[in-house]
Amino acid sequence: MIKPTTITDSFRHKGLRKQLVETIRKKGIEDLEVLQAIENVPRHFFFDSSFLEYAYEDKPFPIGAGQTISQPFTVAFQTILLNVTKGDRVLEIGTGSGYQSCILAELGAKVFTIERHKTLYTKTSRRLPLLGYHSVKTFFGDGYKGLPSYAPFDRILITAAAPKIPEELIIQLKTGGIMVIPIGPDDVQTMTILVKDADGGFTKTEHGAFRFVPMLKDKAK
Ligand code: SAH
Repeated sequence: MIKPTTITDSFRHKGLRKQLVETIRKKGIEDLEVLQAIENVPRHFFFDSSFLEYAYEDKPFPIGAGQTISQPFTVAFQTILLNVTKGDRVLEIGTGSGYQSCILAELGAKVFTIERHKTLYTKTSRRLPLLGYHSVKTFFGDGYKGLPSYAPFDRILITAAAPKIPEELIIQLKTGGIMVIPIGPDDVQTMTILVKDADGGFTKTEHGAFRFVPMLKDKAK
């Protein structure tokens, strides 16, 4: 397990983070609050210590259990589409390393995040309080089911590739609420925004091609 208290956030790390912010700004990320959140969260704390030098490349990276921490550009892109307001209740499907959850917490969101892999859930649920992110609540479970007892949510963010729109999660979204979800088969997905209408349906817009690990049913060990 990563021991964040033994990892330091040095001037070198802070410098690399500023460079990462510049890299994603050049790729089209302009939202100043989101760029600031990327600058604030020490991404190397979410890596096992032997791979720290990879933390500030704009690339996804393996985090165990066959899963990946998303590319910083993708984290920033999804966060902008989600259009979070301070105090929003945000449901995230696919906790993974917890990095995306912390970016949302930096924007003032109350984050509820679900992970289906027990090992990742255990590691991340220990890590986040040590980093001071007490506004993130972690859950072990199947994200397809959402969290009915904590619904409704202002925002829902899916960080895995969904083969189709999960109807159960639309039910857990407030009217006027926003879901950001990469929809499509395993090889490529379309980043999609769904805004929930008053009649329970939704309005859909599409925002380019991305590649995520698949959203799978049921819990795993
Ligand atoms: N947001 C993460 C990215 C993790 S990759 C981060 O910042 O690190 C996607 C994650 O979704 C993986 O950890 C995978 O195990 C998880 N996942 C896939 N299907 C799921 C489901 N049905 N419910 C919950 N988590 C799921």
